[in-house]
Amino acid sequence: MTYKTFTLGCKVNAYETDAVASLLNARGYHEANENEIVDVIIINTCSVTSTSDQKSRQHIRKFHKLYPEAIIVVMGCYAQVDPESVSSLPGVAIVVGASDRHRIPDLIEQYKQHSQAIITVEKNQRNFDYEDFGVTSFTHNSRAYLKIQDGCDNFCSYCIIPYSRGRLRSRPVESIITEIKDLVSHGYKEIILTGIHTGGYGSDLDGFTFSDLVATILREVPNLFRLRISSIEENEVTPDLLNIMAQSSVMARHLHLPLQSGSSSVLKRMNRKYDTAAFLAKVKMIRDYLPDIALSTDVIVGFPGETEEEFTETYNFIKQANFMRLHVFPFSPRSGTSAARMKNQVSPEVKKERVNRLISLSEELEADYERRFIGRKVEVIFEEYDETSHFAIGHTSNYLVAKYPSPVAIHGQIKDIIFQIYTHDINKK
Ligand code: SF4
Repeated sequence: MTYKTFTLGCKVNAYETDAVASLLNARGYHEANENEIVDVIIINTCSVTSTSDQKSRQHIRKFHKLYPEAIIVVMGCYAQVDPESVSSLPGVAIVVGASDRHRIPDLIEQYKQHSQAIITVEKNQRNFDYEDFGVTSFTHNSRAYLKIQDGCDNFCSYCIIPYSRGRLRSRPVESIITEIKDLVSHGYKEIILTGIHTGGYGSDLDGFTFSDLVATILREVPNLFRLRISSIEENEVTPDLLNIMAQSSVMARHLHLPLQSGSSSVLKRMNRKYDTAAFLAKVKMIRDYLPDIALSTDVIVGFPGETEEEFTETYNFIKQANFMRLHVFPFSPRSGTSAARMKNQVSPEVKKERVNRLISLSEELEADYERRFIGRKVEVIFEEYDETSHFAIGHTSNYLVAKYPSPVAIHGQIKDIIFQIYTHDINKK
């Protein structure tokens, strides 16, 4: 039996798709190649914005058109929040929400026997336990995302995730260590700890915190080359964690710290757990421990009621915090969240204009940060190769994209190089 997978959304979704593929491989399936008939299609959906819902539906229809005989299995956040819509789409045989993904091979067998559509979506997602099914099939990459927890209890007013992914629950530390050792033994040089609320790891465990997990990984996997944290909330960056980072060359010199808004009045309406003064104080603390660290962030513009003054506060705050890169999102009302019911929704034109202003600011900040490292020695893990320009491409510890002229691909190699910006990069910008 053959299968194809398609993933929308975040790194956690990508990880879970790989984990389901591993389960199918263990049952004797294999990933279909170009000319092979496809028996099963796994589509992992996202519901973070209304556009993600739309894209999820579009891809389900597209795959049914391409492979009308294939058994379509739909999983993930959109399937969790709206299983009825998903199951009504043509060709959908099995709908699994944000739990029970480990049952997919059995559900396919069940469907093959009875040809009855199967919808197994646990509605009360606050009941979910951590579904510990890891990735056991490895590719030739040098970096791997590793899921350490699921769910979130923060209920930011704009976010659908606590409703789609359920309560925060942490993966057993032994299972995490086992998988990291496996990945390192298969040649992976960098592990990126990821989750729905990564830094919240351990808050459901008795006295075992996220920084305890990081310390355990560094102790138990001494041959790990680089460990990166995919994203972490401001209040979860503790002196303990910063101490561990400052004393370990394995810890990547980069933190992704979602800000969402640089206006305390907007942060309040977002139900975020800090104000701008606390966030700035944390940025200062981080730089006291790690002066050269790269800080990137997420920002939502056009949140209900966001005035021009509040947006200007955000703009100026971002400059003051001096991030190295911004991910900018226009506010997208998600039905079921309190923000979607708020008055004074901002017009799409104003959102667009504010997104563009922050994207320009992000380019300026990134160029400024890169300039600080031109001519300096940096350590790069190479991951890609540009056949046209004959450059090997990889990431530094502080998340710069580095290029190195090479006649051949050097995936997985680690090199100290002098960091520089190449003209073809500048022209592209
Ligand atoms: S912290 Fe907030 S934005 Fe992040 S997943 Fe939880 S509720 Fe959503």
